[in-house]
Amino acid sequence: MSQFEQEYYEFDEFWNSEEFNNSNRDRIKATFELIPADANSILDVACGNGLFCNFIAAERPQMRVMGLDRSNTALTHVKTEKVQSEITSLPFNEREFDCVSALQVLEHLTVPDFRRAKREIARVAGRYAIISVPYKQRLEDEYTRCPSCRTIFNYDLHLRSFDDRDAAELLSEEGFACVKQVKFGKIIEYAGRKQYQNQFFPENKYRWNSPICPLCGYKDENFLKKIETSNNSAQLKKSLLQCLTKLPKMIWPKVSRDYWIISLYKRKGQ
Ligand SMILES: [Zn+2]
Repeated sequence: MSQFEQEYYEFDEFWNSEEFNNSNRDRIKATFELIPADANSILDVACGNGLFCNFIAAERPQMRVMGLDRSNTALTHVKTEKVQSEITSLPFNEREFDCVSALQVLEHLTVPDFRRAKREIARVAGRYAIISVPYKQRLEDEYTRCPSCRTIFNYDLHLRSFDDRDAAELLSEEGFACVKQVKFGKIIEYAGRKQYQNQFFPENKYRWNSPICPLCGYKDENFLKKIETSNNSAQLKKSLLQCLTKLPKMIWPKVSRDYWIISLYKRKGQ
């Protein structure tokens, strides 16, 4: 993990924004419902601002809830027990928690860290693990190019994509079997929209869309502020455009897909 990646995750706006919280609330609830009734303790690795931890603490106050994250900024929002640490080296005993959850984190890890993280989750989890990852994401649809070093990267810093089988077998080698899966966050989009955009608006394909470049550290301090202030005019422009394109849109074929796949795993032989 480079210093610049670290900085990327320290942007307070990520952990604080209303939009972030609203879009995640339903998914958090769906994930919570996967926690087995006989689990009395849970560790949420890469807990971010504690949306999940705080939710569990409110719903199941008798449960021991521990949040772990590398970002101190994020941890300031966590109201349960918490610790600042890395997912690749969890500061806990073997099978210390009945359940370990890792939501929206594995897709960010390099290959060696991905393997280490899975081993660590399996080591600390007594009986269950809950893992949520983006479902069949087309990483290349969300690429951006750094204006300084020209590196192209997925602007959410996602490094891998998961289909049904990837998700189901995520912890197989570590001795866990998938026992339940839910898909979540339905997206309805126009078929071929991205291809259309790339054809007619090629200048937007790799448009700069990140607070910082993870490779060279190029920083756009005003990036998040700019989004906020341009929201109103962009909205107006969008609605005019929507009027003009209403008819073709009515007949344009749509496809729907789920954005997340959330899986519950159980230790084999238990
Ligand atoms: Zn760069």
